[in-house]
Amino acid sequence: MEEKEVLELFKETGALLQGHFELRSGLHSNQFFQCAHLLEQPRTAEQLCGALVEKIQADLQDLEIDTVIAPAMGGITIGHEVARSLGVRFIFVEKEDNILYLRRFKIKKGERFLIAEDVVTRGGRVQETINIVEEHGGVVAAIGILVNRSGGKAQFVAPLVSLLDIEPVTYNPSDCPLCKEGLELVHPGSK
Ligand code: ZN
Repeated sequence: MEEKEVLELFKETGALLQGHFELRSGLHSNQFFQCAHLLEQPRTAEQLCGALVEKIQADLQDLEIDTVIAPAMGGITIGHEVARSLGVRFIFVEKEDNILYLRRFKIKKGERFLIAEDVVTRGGRVQETINIVEEHGGVVAAIGILVNRSGGKAQFVAPLVSLLDIEPVTYNPSDCPLCKEGLELVHPGSK
C-alpha cells in the first residue's frame, strides 16, 4: 500500500481530522489523530495491518517472531491483526495505576517478540513493553506501528517499522495562526 493510499484511508475513516485543535500538551494543531476510528472497521484494520506486516517483512528480512505483544488498549486491535497475519500468538500488557503489567500471559525465556502499537509520539508505552518482555527473559526483535509521530525521535533497542510517518505541526496558543484566523478551537477526546 502506498503512503498516499494509507493517508486517504486515514481521512476516509475519520482517524485524521483537519481543523483547529487543542492537544493534551496545551499546544494547538491543525491535525488530530483518532486511531480508534481507523480500526473500527475490521476490513480496514485487516488492510492496514496487512500493509504494515508486508512492510515489516520487506524491511527486516529473516525476522523471526514467536509472538506479538501490544500495550492495551490502543495496541490490541492492531496487535491481534498483525499476529493473525503473521500466524503467531498474540498477548497484551495492561495498565494498572498508570503502569503497564503482564497479567494474564506467560513469556518464555528466549521467546522472540514483535511489539505492535497504533500511534507513537514519544514512545513511552513501547519502551515500557520492551522492559516487561526483557524482564521476563524474552527478546524484542522488532517494533511495528501504524503511525509514527515522533519525527524520528522514538528509538528503541530493536528496529522500528511504521506504516505512516507524520510529525504534527504544533503552535503555542500565543502565536497560533489558526487562533488569529478566528477558527473555533476544538478539544478532541474530551467527553
Ligand atoms: Zn490556536
